[in-house]
Amino acid sequence: MEISFVTSDTFRQLFKSMSEGIIMVEESGKISIANPVAEKMFGYGNDELIGMALEDLLPERYRGNHIAFRQGFNAHPEPRKMGIGRDLTALRKDGTEIPVEISLSYTRVDESLFIMAFISDISLRKKTEDALKRSEEQLIVYAAELEHKVKARTEALNTSIAKLEREIIERKKAEEEVRKSLERERELNELKSKFVSIASHEFRTPLSTVMSSASLIQQYKDKNDLEKIDKHIQRIKSSVDHLTSILNDFLSLGKLEEGKVDIQPEKIPVQNFLKEISEEMTSLKDGQQIKIDCQADLSIQTDPRILRNVLFNLISNASKYSDRDKVIYLGCVLQQNHLVFSVSDEGIGIPVEDQKYLFDRFFRASNAINIQGSGLGLNIVKRYVDLLRGTITFTSEYQKGSTFTVSMPQK
Ligand code: ADP
Repeated sequence: MEISFVTSDTFRQLFKSMSEGIIMVEESGKISIANPVAEKMFGYGNDELIGMALEDLLPERYRGNHIAFRQGFNAHPEPRKMGIGRDLTALRKDGTEIPVEISLSYTRVDESLFIMAFISDISLRKKTEDALKRSEEQLIVYAAELEHKVKARTEALNTSIAKLEREIIERKKAEEEVRKSLERERELNELKSKFVSIASHEFRTPLSTVMSSASLIQQYKDKNDLEKIDKHIQRIKSSVDHLTSILNDFLSLGKLEEGKVDIQPEKIPVQNFLKEISEEMTSLKDGQQIKIDCQADLSIQTDPRILRNVLFNLISNASKYSDRDKVIYLGCVLQQNHLVFSVSDEGIGIPVEDQKYLFDRFFRASNAINIQGSGLGLNIVKRYVDLLRGTITFTSEYQKGSTFTVSMPQK
């Protein structure tokens, strides 16, 4: 069909100079004209496309659908873009396929419908898009890998930090152990040197008493003065008692310091136990006596050696720090699952200002200076009571007397 407007010079110029491919198709689907860009795009020579069926420019698989699509368009033609949202593929003469973008328009010439397809080869754009997509995908993979790596590193870091923290704690513990054992060593050394000074001071008096009494006994033996001999034998005995008690204190303290005191609890009938202890108190002063006030059926589950040592120490002090002929009260009552032992005397008492130091090692109150002692007994007593999970307290009135109270769980 001769199309006059197509043959006009202006149109030809326009048609040729377009950067898009343009194909004009008759209603039947036959190509009536194609511009050079379209010919080149599809790989055809000059005017080679004219007369071909439009479907020849489509891969085989799309042709059937396309005929139906074209007929639909012919029935209600309107300018529009083709294939929005999906990829369009065209077929070149050499059989290769290219991605394209197509806009449709139409015109009527003498009642005949002509459809114009404006075609852009989007291979390059596609390639770029695909490349972009691939990079995006790679980027996502890379980001995921990175995240994974960061996570792994963070975990590794956290593990090392936790390990480091554990090591620091262990090291601190070890340091603390070393510090403690050094401290213990220092205290033991202090104790040893204190022992040497106390021994040289405290031992001198009883030892010289023993020496002088022994010489005197020698003299009185010649004179056959039995009374004096007896008196000096007593003196020697009490000096030896004193030496023994100092030595015992040091032994106890040594064991306590080294943590070597083990507790072996037994059921103890308290009244009998107190009687036995009071009978063993041979070092009481003349006329001193112990009065026991204890219910007959009381018993306690504890280590008898340690409890004996505690009460022995308290009774010895009560005797040592009161005059002859004074009474020492030894009591025991049950109070809320605890046995409360008390040792009371009517002795010299403890000055108020000294009371707070009473359980300190080597502490001696100002009014006790002229009475023999090492200041160790109460410290040992307190530590023994702690070991048995008991408590020790005291009340005292200067020059009137003192009461020491030990409370022990019954079991
Ligand atoms: P020591 O009797 O060998 O000096 P202790 O540790 O037994 O050592 O007692 C510490 C100090 O507490 C004594 O030196 C004394 O001043 C005071 N003390 C202990 N018991 C009594 C008591 N029953 N009456 C008065 N003072 C006491």
